[in-house]
Amino acid sequence: MNKRTPFIAGNWKMYKTSSEAAETAGQLTSLVADTTDVDIMIAPAFTALDAVSKVIKASRVSLGAQNLYWENEGAYTGEVSASMLVSVGCHYVIIGHSERRQYFGETDASVNHKIRAAIKANLIPVVCVGETEEERDSGRTFSILDKQVKEGLNNYFAKDLESLVIAYEPVWAIGTGKTATRDQAQEAHQYIRSVIEDLFGDTLCQSIRILYGGSVKPENIAELMQMPDIDGALVGGASLSAESFSKIVQFRK
Ligand code: PEP
Repeated sequence: MNKRTPFIAGNWKMYKTSSEAAETAGQLTSLVADTTDVDIMIAPAFTALDAVSKVIKASRVSLGAQNLYWENEGAYTGEVSASMLVSVGCHYVIIGHSERRQYFGETDASVNHKIRAAIKANLIPVVCVGETEEERDSGRTFSILDKQVKEGLNNYFAKDLESLVIAYEPVWAIGTGKTATRDQAQEAHQYIRSVIEDLFGDTLCQSIRILYGGSVKPENIAELMQMPDIDGALVGGASLSAESFSKIVQFRK
């Protein structure tokens, strides 16, 4: 087991009204109250951030958002800035999720801008990378990961990225029930870590947390967490129920 603190994050996507989210968050805080050796985050929709923030305030569960815009304020209809997220209690923000890349035109360049805005506001960026099925089948997994990491982190220094979290989420495994095998995930994580080493050196390479995402469930988390370069999980579907998410958080039990 490596020395990096495990990190289990839930992405609630466009599910749950504010009151539903607050209710699930309340259940989760009780279920994970005794788990002190894992960092935990939930990322509800923007509309539920304030309500969830109040519920988890005194707990071990931290708040994240699913996206942000890189300007601080202005005429950007429909967007939300880093400082707005901080004002409702966010500590984390997911950036470059494959659904945002696929449906909303997110690119490695926009990911790069968003990381800067997050860091400036003291938000911890959880940056998603991952190949599609077609890219994997045509043998391009590593070159895609290489491009996403290099362009997403272009023009940064290691000192800027001390808090950064990367989530390896193969697109073909998100919401499909198909999980990457632990060997496929380990291979990709090790590759991403080697890119970080080449770009930023050994210290960041050793400390950066790389999460796996893609149909993580209570049944498969323990074996994924045994792999040396897997430091946690970004969980979609199975994070929507406090019961199943708490089992993932408590993967050591
Ligand atoms: C995700 O949305 O980041 C995700 C990994 O979803 P799921 O766990 O449902 O595959």
